[in-house]
Amino acid sequence: MGYRQKVSSYDVLVIGAGSSGCAIAARVSEDPNLQVALVEAGPDYERAQDTPDDLVNSHNNSYNDHDWGLVYEPTNGRKDRFPRGRVVGGSSAVNTTIALRGMPEDYDEWAAQGNPGWGWSDVLSGFKRLERDLDFPDTPYHGDSGPITIRRYPSAEMVKQQQAFLDSAEALGYPYCADANDPDCLLYTSDAADE
Ligand SMILES: Cc1cc2nc3c(=O)[nH]c(=O)nc-3n(C[C@H](O)[C@H](O)[C@H](O)COP(=O)(O)OP(=O)(O)OC[C@H]3O[C@@H](n4cnc5c(N)ncnc54)[C@H](O)[C@@H]3O)c2cc1C
Repeated sequence: MGYRQKVSSYDVLVIGAGSSGCAIAARVSEDPNLQVALVEAGPDYERAQDTPDDLVNSHNNSYNDHDWGLVYEPTNGRKDRFPRGRVVGGSSAVNTTIALRGMPEDYDEWAAQGNPGWGWSDVLSGFKRLERDLDFPDTPYHGDSGPITIRRYPSAEMVKQQQAFLDSAEALGYPYCADANDPDCLLYTSDAADE
């Protein structure tokens, strides 16, 4: 499976075809003079119709046949599973299809600690470039023509527990946030929750 070409040597070897490895290999191979190899421990499902159900099922696709089976210790004595994808796509293939960005202040803190290019205003252009947001296209925080399609679940597609969670939060005074990737929306909702 996958695209393979017999060459005797490579200019760039990328180990791990996860979120970062795929992006790096794609960007580097834009240079037609470079031979690039992307090596992955897990399988490569080239076509959507060949992708097994455990990866496609967005409601429960973290602990599946494509998981490394890692365990971590978040607090003293407590052990939990730590899902990491072993497949082309890496952990972004087992993240229950969530596409949630970090908080602007966290990126700005990274930049302030001596990492130029990682501030919120720097990464935002990358976030916009990679997405095709069906719900909020071409708004200040979203892109409309990137390779990754983003949408939010409408009520009709939620399981009962998800809807009940949202209803309970709203009943407790947490206003509904229609776009969790809009920092203004998050600010508004957390302010209201603090009152
Ligand atoms: C349930 C869940 C929800 C998440 N939600 C979000 C979210 O909303 N927003 C967000 O920003 N992030 C989220 N993440 C985190 C995000 O998916 C990861 O941070 C990101 O995918 C990590 O990218 P990476 O390239 O560092 O590693 P990975 O994507 O894990 O890629 C590593 C790749 O390397 C391969 N590999 C490892 N060792 C070898 C080897 N020796 N030889 C060959 N290949 C090897 C692995 O099989 C894997 O494919 C979530 C993750 C999970 C599990």
